[in-house]
Amino acid sequence: MPAVSLKNIVRKYGEKKALDNVSFDCAENSRTVIIGPSGAGKTTCLKLIAGLETADEGSLYIDGRDASSLKPHERNIGMIFQDAALFPHSTVYDNIAYGMHRLGYNKDDIRKMVQETAEHLHIESLLKRYPGSLSAGERQRAGIARAIVRKPGLLLLDEPFANLDARLREELQKEIISLQKEYGMTMLLITHDQSEAVAMGQYLIFMEEGKVIDSGPVRKVAEDPRDLRSAMFIGSPAVNTSPVSETKDGPMFFGTILNVSLQGRNVIGAVRPEKMFLTEEGRGFACTVQSVTHGYRESTAECMSMYGPLRITGTDFAEKQILHVSFHEGDVMLFDAETKERIRLM
Ligand code: ADP
Ligand code: MG
Repeated sequence: MPAVSLKNIVRKYGEKKALDNVSFDCAENSRTVIIGPSGAGKTTCLKLIAGLETADEGSLYIDGRDASSLKPHERNIGMIFQDAALFPHSTVYDNIAYGMHRLGYNKDDIRKMVQETAEHLHIESLLKRYPGSLSAGERQRAGIARAIVRKPGLLLLDEPFANLDARLREELQKEIISLQKEYGMTMLLITHDQSEAVAMGQYLIFMEEGKVIDSGPVRKVAEDPRDLRSAMFIGSPAVNTSPVSETKDGPMFFGTILNVSLQGRNVIGAVRPEKMFLTEEGRGFACTVQSVTHGYRESTAECMSMYGPLRITGTDFAEKQILHVSFHEGDVMLFDAETKERIRLM
């Protein structure tokens, strides 16, 4: 039984559908990441699960129960937002313990639980301090502690590390994963950062314009996308795309005749920059390096060819350099230009 299950959810704001027939499941004790551009409906999804939004159509199940009648505090959920949103006039301790009294915990239990959680997140020494005196990272740790102190079954995170520097982000990503495993929580995280998606997620849901476009195990979605939109969003540097054109010798993609039949369809081809390789003059096709982005291990060259622009990764590029580039036909992904869906042509 999935811990969370959305079935055909529609959420409208006026005429606009923020969620347009969204369905997905999160397996118990798993880590799922929702990724997608701004405005895709990611936050709306999370709010719906938390009970801060209601659906116009469709159903939501939490632990197999229809959640429509459950109040937010009955959902056994911890939430973390981009901004920890702590109460400024309460100590870190009181922020973490907030609401626990009302939920029927006694003072000793609360003290024990706050202490244990604070130790986990390395903020024991900050419990008497006020949020205003904390660094951004410390504030976010306190926010995480508040979300998990009751060991919720479901942990919802909405771009929680967006305001933190890279090192802190990595540290907190690791800590959240270890807490998720230790407490056996089901985690649903929103990000628009794909390195975070890979670092945190086992499963990936790609959303755009209120729809789930692609989903599956993280690696599967990244390496074998079902849709041109997820292929183009996921992967860095971004995938190379070009229309596949019908020629008298057959369908052509970046100067290479593909061994397929287009069957009259408009097709877009795509090949990952890292799948492109350098070859000798007279093979493959020529392109000119227009700019180079240097990375620690690898650089990316933005090139122009007679078939259009493309990116290629490698170690050593110079501007204005002429490269001879090729790829294996097996690394070309084909998509229907109209529906954007992946197609397999013979
Ligand atoms: P994301 O988190 O993926 O950036 P959101 O879920 O916040 O996207 O928003 C999805 C769409 O719904 C956007 O077009 C946004 O403008 C719209 N939207 C979200 N909340 C409201 C609201 N309270 N009123 C009107 N429109 C909203
Ligand atoms: Mg959002």
